[in-house]
Amino acid sequence: MKEEDLPKITMLKAAPARKASAQQQQTRTLTVESLRRIVCCLCFETKADVARVSAFGAFADQTFLSDIVRTCFGVDIDEEQFCTDVCEQCLVQIEITWQFYRKVNANASALKDLYR
Ligand SMILES: [Zn+2]
Repeated sequence: MKEEDLPKITMLKAAPARKASAQQQQTRTLTVESLRRIVCCLCFETKADVARVSAFGAFADQTFLSDIVRTCFGVDIDEEQFCTDVCEQCLVQIEITWQFYRKVNANASALKDLYR
């Protein structure tokens, strides 16, 4: 077999090493000392000047923001825990998630009613 009859093999460049995902980059080592600086019980923001609200205040159509957090994320916010505030950035995410949660559930309910 002559060399020109052989199938040409193109060497692929090695894939670049994957950068750590945003989530991995945000992971920090948590210590009891660092808990004192946390101003948001969800994202663990530590900037003291960040706008925030209590998780036990009303939000959207619910009496307690903490109920929405439990429903959407399965996270319980304890009144006794190190921090019970939620920052503005998390509120934006919660608002979007809550709207989507309600939409999906309303659709699922409507479908259930149709086949009842
Ligand atoms: Zn936050």
